[in-house]
Amino acid sequence: MSEDFSLRELSRLRADFPILGRVGRGGQAIAYLDFSATSQKPTPVIEAITEFYRSTNGAVHRGTHLLGDESTAAFEEGRSVLASFIGARADEIVWTKNATEAINLVALAIRNATGLGESAGNPLALAPGDRIVVTRAEHHANLVPWQQLCQATGAELRWLDLHEDGRIDTDTLDVINERTRVVAFTHVSNVTGAVSPVNQIVSRARECGALVLLDTCQSSAHMPINIRDLGVDFAVFSSHKMLGPTGVGALWGKRELLDAMPPVLTGGSMIENVTMESSSFMPAPERFEAGSQPIAQIVGWSAALRYLSAIGMDRVAEHERVLTAYMLDGISGIDGVRVLGPGSEFERIGVVAFAVDGVHPHDVGQVLDSHDVAVRVGHHCAIPLHSFFGVRSSSRASIGPTTTREEVDRFIEALGQVRSYFGGC
Ligand code: PLP
Repeated sequence: MSEDFSLRELSRLRADFPILGRVGRGGQAIAYLDFSATSQKPTPVIEAITEFYRSTNGAVHRGTHLLGDESTAAFEEGRSVLASFIGARADEIVWTKNATEAINLVALAIRNATGLGESAGNPLALAPGDRIVVTRAEHHANLVPWQQLCQATGAELRWLDLHEDGRIDTDTLDVINERTRVVAFTHVSNVTGAVSPVNQIVSRARECGALVLLDTCQSSAHMPINIRDLGVDFAVFSSHKMLGPTGVGALWGKRELLDAMPPVLTGGSMIENVTMESSSFMPAPERFEAGSQPIAQIVGWSAALRYLSAIGMDRVAEHERVLTAYMLDGISGIDGVRVLGPGSEFERIGVVAFAVDGVHPHDVGQVLDSHDVAVRVGHHCAIPLHSFFGVRSSSRASIGPTTTREEVDRFIEALGQVRSYFGGC
């Protein structure tokens, strides 16, 4: 087993994050427990972006001047950096605006392939009665695009169901049948923190000949990821959850599948030739990258991935596992607080949503904020999952590599005061 961070290491790491010195409304440094919504950025990321604009900025894949060439090199190097972080090939990485766009890209490409008709022979084309399978635990980003695809094509949407604590119930795997064409699911739930049984879902999908898309938004900054070992066909990534900037995400797809996907957005930078009547398109990944691209953000994301790799993802995972156990233990000692997710640190990570008896999550969030503890409140873009738990919304504390025991203590102490603050016991 890999080791947890030493205190000295953790304080050195935290010194890389200038925002952690920010004082909140209560007069203390903010305990940032909202990594699931977005991560904070270390100085090397901030500096890489600033330095790019200071010394390099130029349009990519156009012209021959020095700045354009250097920008193109940085843009393409970003593909290699992400590819090596996830165990993939650089030419299988497609830049997108975020993970939501990456999922939509696949769903819309399948829709376009279906529009071409099966007679056009596209292996991705759907027929009425085909099935798309998701889970009840999905973020709306990995549910709504598939609903839309089903409505447009006559395919039917089904879902894997959940155990009482929100883990995926593998007894429901038989909704994946021989008509299933795509199984799309989250690696880790952004509400329950539960890690999905990837192997079991992938092997059932393989038996049925279905493609698999994995949403890694909540896993890729918290555990080592190797896309080949996971055995999926597509995976989506979000820079801003991984210590990188907002404005960029990525789709990874197996080369032969990217080759089969028709374009979705069209225009400049993705064509081979254009006449007034028609156009021909570049191969993937450029075929899916119409228009100007987020070059500085890719440079920042590359710095973030190098930073995470230098720490070691197995060490990040171990540090967070220890703190997750500590947080769950602390919450279990507070009356009237119900965790929406598995109660032990196994098969889960440090995304901990909870409901407080008789207190609205917004009020919970405000009390915590007054103690300078930053958590998220609301439905976390997962309304069906909240309905499953019988609540409209929840509060959520989520940890990252910079989280300390002292921050968790502050959270637990403030949470312990919430009910009495609102006149409960
Ligand atoms: N999927 C999951 C599980 C998420 O938690 C999120 C964001 O919270 C998304 C998808 C959407 O990610 P993005 O902001 O990159 O579109």
